Amino acid sequence: MTTKSRQVTSGEAAESVALGSLSATEAASRHGGLAEELSTELDELELVPFSDAKAAFGPAVALERKARELGLDGLERRAQLIQADVLGRIGKHTASGQLIREINEWAAEQKHQQLLARSHRLLSMFFDSIGDHPSAWQHALRSVELLDDGASDRLRAEHLFGLGMALQRTGALEEARTRYQSALRLAEGAEDAPLRLKILNNLAWLEDDAGDANRSLEIADRMLAFAHGHGIELDAACLDTIAHAQLLLGRHADAERTLRPILDDEHLDFRESEGLAEALRTAAEAQRMQGLVDQAQETLGRCLRLCEDRGLGLNRLEAMEEQAKLYAARGDFEKAYQQHIAFHDADVTLRAAAREANSRTLQAVFETEEARYEGERFRELALRDALTGLRNRRYVDNELPIWVTQSINENKPLAVALVDVDHFKRVNDGHSHAVGDLVLSRLAGLLTDAVAKSGLTARMGGEEFLVVLTAENALDQYEALRKRVEDYPWSKVAPALAVTISIGATRLRPGRMTQAALLGQADRHLYAAKTAGRNRVVFDPD
Ligand code: GH3
Ligand code: MG
Ligand code: MG
Repeated sequence: MTTKSRQVTSGEAAESVALGSLSATEAASRHGGLAEELSTELDELELVPFSDAKAAFGPAVALERKARELGLDGLERRAQLIQADVLGRIGKHTASGQLIREINEWAAEQKHQQLLARSHRLLSMFFDSIGDHPSAWQHALRSVELLDDGASDRLRAEHLFGLGMALQRTGALEEARTRYQSALRLAEGAEDAPLRLKILNNLAWLEDDAGDANRSLEIADRMLAFAHGHGIELDAACLDTIAHAQLLLGRHADAERTLRPILDDEHLDFRESEGLAEALRTAAEAQRMQGLVDQAQETLGRCLRLCEDRGLGLNRLEAMEEQAKLYAARGDFEKAYQQHIAFHDADVTLRAAAREANSRTLQAVFETEEARYEGERFRELALRDALTGLRNRRYVDNELPIWVTQSINENKPLAVALVDVDHFKRVNDGHSHAVGDLVLSRLAGLLTDAVAKSGLTARMGGEEFLVVLTAENALDQYEALRKRVEDYPWSKVAPALAVTISIGATRLRPGRMTQAALLGQADRHLYAAKTAGRNRVVFDPD
């Protein structure tokens, strides 16, 4: 299956307008029957990703093409939105989010209410996937508000279910429960079995979250009966819900029995990974609670291997925590303690990585012109030193190689100098750190004046600066700079303050044609200037 992101560029949108594609009403009247047919197919397909995400992608691509050929923009966008849904469900959150956002904006412009409602539902899922629960809730709410009387019960049930989930995530359990219950009634009427199972499963989890294990198990039993009645085999996630409620009620052996089908399954590959990892961890806990530490260890080993194999970071974390408890149950407290520390470290690392990944996704999906401009401004700031406003070392590493290449290509002179304040520690110690800072910023001003417009100056760190010149008489200019610093009225900055600098300088020439070679030579000369008594310039011997 292809998972290529179908990004709708503004260029494409403009093109379809320029080509004079038919307006929705015009097209509908010309292709009335066909449009209706396509629309019904889309109604069906829209809810397929829910039970079998990948199965919806191919048909959605085909429907998108048909709609485009007929000039039915709204239907084309609906077909694209289904593809975005699939992309999100298989973990391609950036591609999915970009497409949803585009379609959401288009639907708002066109006042296409149905598409708007659906795109808000998908935006809600997008925000949920990156852990932004308040935003997920806002979009879920819009997706319900925007449904009109023409919306099918099945669609309404699905949107209410989404709202319930978003509310549950923000901890609003009461509100979540009423949405789930409404969704369940609608799904029952619409005879949508997979959706009913999902809702029952979430309701059971909600009661589990609310600390009511009895109620949770009651609902889980309803779910079990419903699945049996409809000949549906419960997946690992649903079995885990039941077992978890049983564990909470102290029914450890029952919990293990519930998960038996998974424990006995030699071919676990056929089941979904995350639900499976959770189920194995719950089973290990059920076994540990019964004192079956060897079995528990074997089950947990399977769980950890599965997490490693499939890169399930969060599940692995939970398994690590269970492992610590298991060591403790065996009386090996040293190992339990080590394992707990390993768990904690992994937790911190994973959270940081997730935060970073989420913010990258968010930026990729929602970066506007303004955000791009702000980003550039931020990058510009990141290339400057905060105290002096001069360029910093990172900027030098980016730019100096370019200066070097240009000088070589154009056969122009280039001189590089490292400038270091003499006995700067004495300034800090004899006056204050604040005076030291002031000296550094005054010095930055003197250096900037010295290079005028044709050079480059930067703070390399501490009290060391770089001054790059493109003039023939660089040595004279460095010497003039040294003198200007020496002669500067420092006593106005602080009584009896005197500041001098030492300079190590070199020029571009055969055998010294790289940044590293130039800076290395300048540094050696700086050292020579210091040992020779400071307040002097050491340049290449001619
Ligand atoms: P030398 O003549 O050999 O260069 O002696 P020095 O004292 O200048 O050299 P050293 O490298 O021993 O000390 C540099 C001092 O610069 C140490 C550090 O505390 C101080 N320093 C570095 N960055 C800052 C800063 O941002 N502000 C202030 N006030 N002091 C700084
Ligand atoms: Mg110094
Ligand atoms: Mg120094």
